Amino acid sequence: MQHSKSEALMARAEKVIPGGVNSPVRAFKSVGGTPIFFEKGEGAYVYDQDGSKYIDYVGSWGPLILGHAHPKVMEVLQETAAKGLSFGAPTQLEVELAELVTELVPSMEQVRMVSSGTEATMSALRLARGFTGRDRILKFEGCYHGHADSLLVKAGSGLLTLGVPSSPGIPASLTSLTATIPYNDFDALESCFKEIGSELAAVIIEPVVGNMNLIAPLEGYLEKIRALCDEYGVVFIIDEVMTGFRVHPQGAQGLYNVKADLTCLGKVIGGGMPVGAFGGRADIMAHLAPLGPVYQAGTLSGNPLAMAVGKATLELLQEPGLYDKLFAQTKKLVAIFEEEAKKAGITLSTRAVGSMFGLFMSETAPNNYDEVTACDGDMFNKLFHALCDEGVYIAPSAFEAGFVSICHTDEVLEETRVAVAKAFARLK
Ligand SMILES: *Cc1c(COP(=O)(O)O)cnc(C)c1O
Repeated sequence: MQHSKSEALMARAEKVIPGGVNSPVRAFKSVGGTPIFFEKGEGAYVYDQDGSKYIDYVGSWGPLILGHAHPKVMEVLQETAAKGLSFGAPTQLEVELAELVTELVPSMEQVRMVSSGTEATMSALRLARGFTGRDRILKFEGCYHGHADSLLVKAGSGLLTLGVPSSPGIPASLTSLTATIPYNDFDALESCFKEIGSELAAVIIEPVVGNMNLIAPLEGYLEKIRALCDEYGVVFIIDEVMTGFRVHPQGAQGLYNVKADLTCLGKVIGGGMPVGAFGGRADIMAHLAPLGPVYQAGTLSGNPLAMAVGKATLELLQEPGLYDKLFAQTKKLVAIFEEEAKKAGITLSTRAVGSMFGLFMSETAPNNYDEVTACDGDMFNKLFHALCDEGVYIAPSAFEAGFVSICHTDEVLEETRVAVAKAFARLK
């Protein structure tokens, strides 16, 4: 496939933008090659600058559950934009979206809007620390919660590890307050709480992990965390930036029947606009400024365009039967990959949770970070490029989940099957 315009743009971009991109995974560092510059999207498809068309299974990394440029959403966006872009003062749209979100996610009694998922988790952490008067937090290996200092942490050595910064520029004195344990490990969880439970302000987790390909919680795992948080007075933060309104109408909390003290949202809640949100128990949220002493603010928080698009997106998602259909299409998609891999004699396993999916170059689907890193990375990279050449765009990294939208109809899936079969044939 021809990428000369993308290559030319990348050459220009590299002169004025570090690495040519505004977010690192876009640079294709893990799969190799030049990033594709996109020009437009329509339903299940994206078009690059060279005019090639792809079936899109990235959906802007999750937000585009309604597909690209949904006509109703575009209409609402244009109507709202005509009235002015920002006021820095309260608006009706903020109230309406907050009402909708608190209705949809029962554990969220109150919610505050921010402009990204990173801002949501960073603010939720500060609030949990302010509320409990404790400094330490617990996170899980392989979970991503945005790029706030306290959360860009990898496990150090030793049994119950003090986190060490996963990026230069982050003080070790700060990350030493972040403990990290493997995901889905019940024993590590219990011994961690036994040792430092009473010092923890918060536990933060991706309830379904979409940032190490796609990992689901083992049965009872989230419930176990809930019980330990209750026992030790720890704020349970469920980071639903990716899973919110994607794996169930109420998010992962609806799917697994577990309640957070604080929930973080992003991605789908903005429908493609820059939005994040955090919220939860009213007694905790009461500690937030201006009601309480924990400071948090944002010039563009609750921006009218973002609120309008978010609200339109969530409202359109309430159509009866929409989620059942969406989840069925996701199951069909992973079945297509499995069937075609089998025909081609390629080792591949899959996972689907709601409208998220994972493709693994391994015999069985992994359950934690170590198992994900053990999959065949070279093979994944080859598959990525072969799919691109056949007009199917998946995430340019073996550590990212895939996303299905309501525009991925049976026709689109059949088109995908043909492309996948051809791509697998090239891998031999
Ligand atoms: C994407 C993501 C974030 C960060 O959101 P940004 O809008 O990129 O800052 C946080 N948590 C999870 C689970 C995410 O998937």
